[in-house]
Amino acid sequence: MSRDETKLVEGGRRPEWTGRIVNPPVHRASTILFDDCASLKAGAGRNADGDWHYGRRGTPTQWALADALTDLEPGAEGTMLYPSGVAAISIALLSVLKAGDELLMVDSTYEPTRVFCRTVLAEMGITTRFYDPMIGAGIADLIGETTAAIFLESPGSLTFEVQDVPAIVAVAKERGIVTLLDNTWATPLLFPAIAAGIDLTILACTKYVVGHSDAMLGSVTATAAHHAKLRRTTQLFGQHVAPDDAYLGLRGLRTLAVRMKAHEEGALKVARWLEGRPEVARVLHPALPSCPGHDVWARDFKGSSGLFTFILNGGDAAARAVFIDGLEHFGIGYSWGGYESLALPIEPGTIRSATRWEADGPAIRLHIGLEHPDDLIADLERGFARIKAA
Ligand SMILES: *Cc1c(COP(=O)(O)O)cnc(C)c1O
Repeated sequence: MSRDETKLVEGGRRPEWTGRIVNPPVHRASTILFDDCASLKAGAGRNADGDWHYGRRGTPTQWALADALTDLEPGAEGTMLYPSGVAAISIALLSVLKAGDELLMVDSTYEPTRVFCRTVLAEMGITTRFYDPMIGAGIADLIGETTAAIFLESPGSLTFEVQDVPAIVAVAKERGIVTLLDNTWATPLLFPAIAAGIDLTILACTKYVVGHSDAMLGSVTATAAHHAKLRRTTQLFGQHVAPDDAYLGLRGLRTLAVRMKAHEEGALKVARWLEGRPEVARVLHPALPSCPGHDVWARDFKGSSGLFTFILNGGDAAARAVFIDGLEHFGIGYSWGGYESLALPIEPGTIRSATRWEADGPAIRLHIGLEHPDDLIADLERGFARIKAA
């Protein structure tokens, strides 16, 4: 089997979808025409990528992206696409849960995921119990009669605790519980989730897959046991990705491996520099030994990406704003995974319920883009000088 870099180049480029063109064309479609009544009728019973039916079920543009993403997860049956990462998370959860079920949700999860549990799932009669990201095999103690699924996110995208996925998966398999993982930080390149025993793995493709901050996209890749139900739920909720956006996802995917290496290298350089600064209390980066779960990261991951957090050594939100507002090479805004660097003030302590999160000073999340890391370091150094002068 080919290596990931090769899969990224070749994925989804089936001759029947691309013809003589290197990239799958952007097929804009609602109605798809059939030769006659008999072929229309014959088509009605088929529902897989590659079966022409109606625009909502996609065309080669979307099928190629799904196919390429499935290729990156050995052991997976297929991939469904969504108009955002949040849609991918919501539909994945709805495909495995029903009224009366309990969901175990990691306390460090992405905030909209938490809100979805507390609102939509709660109103449907599905209860959520939040758990400590560092729980590992201890998850067994939380499993009750009605526990149907465990949701993981590793590392958390604000506080970067790395979860012991193999330990949690082992418990889940023994008890017949479904596992879902938000794998946006690592992507399958750094953590192939299905091979690790996860049943449904989720990407906010908006981040590293698209990679250029110009489209919103999500995906769920599932095992054979879960794919059919996921596909049905996705289709019944009318989930559809525009072919233009699927094309941007494919365009981004081709360079994912080289971009990830550059993000990794730049982020490590900046993180290590920050670690040595007196103005910094802590750096939360999975590849640094001080990060909770670093040993698990070293055991399970093939590398690190460009997103991490650091804590200022004292100071308040106003000092943090002085630091961030004056940065020249870092944008201020949500999301991450694009080619550009971002800085975001974050308040992780206010979001949690099962664990406490405390820090000695205000927290800043950085996404390290593809700029030269020394320019970024010089920018951050000027930021520390600004705080001192203020
Ligand atoms: C951004 C993000 C999402 C949501 O993706 P959108 O495409 O913005 O809806 C989900 N999980 C994580 C970890 C994210 O960072």
